[in-house]
Amino acid sequence: AQPQQQVDYVFKIVVIGDSAVGKTQLLGRFTRDEFRFDSKSTIGVEFQTRTLSIQNKLVKAQIWDTAGQERYRAVTSAYYRGALGAMLVYDITRRQSFDHAARWVEELRAHADSSMVVMLIGNKADLVGQRAVPAEDAAEFAEEQGLFFSEASALSGENVERAFLRLLEEIYGVV
Ligand code: GDP
Ligand code: MG
Repeated sequence: AQPQQQVDYVFKIVVIGDSAVGKTQLLGRFTRDEFRFDSKSTIGVEFQTRTLSIQNKLVKAQIWDTAGQERYRAVTSAYYRGALGAMLVYDITRRQSFDHAARWVEELRAHADSSMVVMLIGNKADLVGQRAVPAEDAAEFAEEQGLFFSEASALSGENVERAFLRLLEEIYGVV
């Protein structure tokens, strides 16, 4: 058996957003530095973890993935319970996935603690030639809603580490 790792904090983070925006792949990139071309839509996986050091404290990020329940209002309150942070993901090539971000923010406000730190992620930044959402629109929405914002690519890995770290550091700052 592995010796129990002593961590100072466990931060629960939820990943939300429309189906197929890349939530599961972002998680795989951050927790295992992996992108799976063969992966099917998420079934039943609850969460993945990665332990890292933040300001000399060991923080275990426990990151929850939706189990294909991305339809509006299908994600249960148990999913949000105790979450300190959220990654709200849209796909920069699919306008509708960005238009739905407002609904996801409503969901968060209905279920989550008001101190929850939220990061809006425009994923698939590698597909910039197919861009359907200007970064400025997303930045403006994020500003209005009090969210952090970054574009990223689970495929190339661009900005993934940075975005998760930013979220964890912000959570660290509020706990
Ligand atoms: P989820 O339903 O939000 O969990 O989405 P997935 O992580 O299953 O990804 C949906 C599809 O988008 C899959 O075909 C992935 O290979 C693809 N995908 C995910 N992230 C990226 C990315 O950063 N770039 C590109 N080009 N494709 C991606
Ligand atoms: Mg998924």
